[in-house]
Amino acid sequence: MKIAIIGTGYVGLPTGVGLAEFGNTVVCVDKQEEKINALKSGKVTIFEQGLEDLFLKNLKNGRLKFSLSTEEGVKDADVVLIAVGTPPHPVTKEADLQYIYAAAEEMAPYLTGYTVVATKSTVPVGTGDEIEKIISNKNPNADFDAVSLPEFLREGFAVHDFFEPDRIVIGANTDRALKVMTELYKPFAGKTEILAVRRRSAETIKYASNAFLAIKIHYINEMADFCEKAGADIFEVAKGMGLDRRIGNKFLNPGPGYGGSCFPKDTNAMACMGRKYGASLSLIEAAIRGNDLRKTKMAERILNMVKGVSEAKVAVWGLAFKNGTDDVRCSPALQIVEQMLRSGANICVYDPKAMDNARKILGDEVKYAQNAFEAAKDADVLAILTEWDDFAEVNLTELKAIMRSPKVVDLRNMLKSKQPQLQGFEYRCIGLDS
Ligand code: NAD
Repeated sequence: MKIAIIGTGYVGLPTGVGLAEFGNTVVCVDKQEEKINALKSGKVTIFEQGLEDLFLKNLKNGRLKFSLSTEEGVKDADVVLIAVGTPPHPVTKEADLQYIYAAAEEMAPYLTGYTVVATKSTVPVGTGDEIEKIISNKNPNADFDAVSLPEFLREGFAVHDFFEPDRIVIGANTDRALKVMTELYKPFAGKTEILAVRRRSAETIKYASNAFLAIKIHYINEMADFCEKAGADIFEVAKGMGLDRRIGNKFLNPGPGYGGSCFPKDTNAMACMGRKYGASLSLIEAAIRGNDLRKTKMAERILNMVKGVSEAKVAVWGLAFKNGTDDVRCSPALQIVEQMLRSGANICVYDPKAMDNARKILGDEVKYAQNAFEAAKDADVLAILTEWDDFAEVNLTELKAIMRSPKVVDLRNMLKSKQPQLQGFEYRCIGLDS
C-alpha cells in the first residue's frame, strides 16, 4: 500500500519504518527542514533501540522516503496517517489541536482516489468529526474516511511495540475504511488482537488507558510514601500486590513521579474532557495534583541531604524522562533539576542520551559532564533521576572515593540491591524508611 505519514517524530518515524519493513511504500512528511534533510541523508533523528538498522535498510531499498511537501506524500496515498503533536495548551491544559487541523487543511487538496485519513496522534473525543469537516470543506470532492488509530507505543521500546503490540485499535465508522485498515494491519492477523470500535470509542480508549497507567504510578508512589512512614518496604509490598493477577506486576515501581510527553498532557486533557462533558474524573484530577507536587517533594528530599553545606555541589545522573530514550519532554528529572535551581543549587548533570535535548532547556544554568563519574566528582550529594542500566553497574568504591561526601538519593531505586557495598554511604531510596 502507499502510505503518507504527516509528522515524523517519536511516533511518525518508527511507524513509517515499521510499515516500510512490511513492504509498503511510505513517505514521511515533516515541516522541519533540518529533520527531513538529516533523515534523507541517512541520519536517524531520535534515539530508539533497533530503529537505525531498519531505517537504513528501508531508506536504501527505496520503500521509505522523506519529504517537506504534504502534496508529495499525500498524492496517490491509500492511507494518510496523522502523527503530529498535540501538546497541552499552556493555560487551559486542553490538547492543542492546531497541528492536527493544519495537517487536515494541508492534505485536503491533494487526496486522490479513496483515502483513509487515520489519526495516530492522541486527540480528544470528537476530533475525527472535526477532521472530516475540515477536509470536506476544503475539498468537497475528496473521497475519504477519517479513522482513529490510537498509538500505544512506549518510547524506548518503539520498534518492539510496533512489531509486537498488545493490541491494535481501529476506530472506523464505515466498513470501507475498516477494510482498508484491516488490510494495512494484515501482518498482525492471528497474532495480535485487532479491535474494531466506533471512532469516539477509539479516541477515548487512548486517554482512558494513559490516565489509568498514570493513576497506577501515582498510587504506588503514594504507597511508597506510606511505607517510608510506616516501616514497610515498598518492594515487598509491590511484589505481594503484583502477584494478584487482577492487579498485575507492571507499573508498580515507585519513583519521582510520572512524566514524558504523554502521561502529563493526556491526564490533563482527559480531565478537561471530563469537565467539558460534565463527567466527574476525580481520580485523574487527584493523580495530576499529587504527581505535580511529588517533583517538589523529591527536589526537597535531595537538597535536605546537603542542608547547611555551603556551596554544596549536587550531581545528577539521568535527565531523560525514562531510560531508553533521549526525550526530556516533561521529564521528572528536568523538573526536579529546575526546582533545585530555583533553590539556588549548584548542579552538574549527566545523561547517556539526553544531554543535547536537556541543554536546550537548561542552557548554562547547570554544568554538563562527559560521563557519570565526572558529574559525581567532588559532589556533596548524587541524585539518580533516570533508570539507565549503567547507573546500577557503578563501582561504589570508586564513586565513594571521588565524591566530596558520599551521599546518594536514588529516586529510581537503582542501587537498593547493593546494600553491602553502600556501607559508608548515606543512602536514601524510595519507599523504604531511611
Ligand atoms: P513529535 O513532536 O516527536 O513529532 C511531531 C512532528 O510533527 C514534529 O516533527 C513536527 O514538526 C511535525 N509536524 C507538526 N505539524 C506538521 C504538519 N502540519 N505537517 C508535517 N509535519 C508536522 O511528537 P510525537 O511524540 O511523535 O507525538 C505525536 C502524537 O502521538 C501526539 O499526539 C502524542 O500524544 C501521540 N503519542 C505519542 C507517543 C510517544 O511515545 N511519543 C505515544 C503514543 C501517542
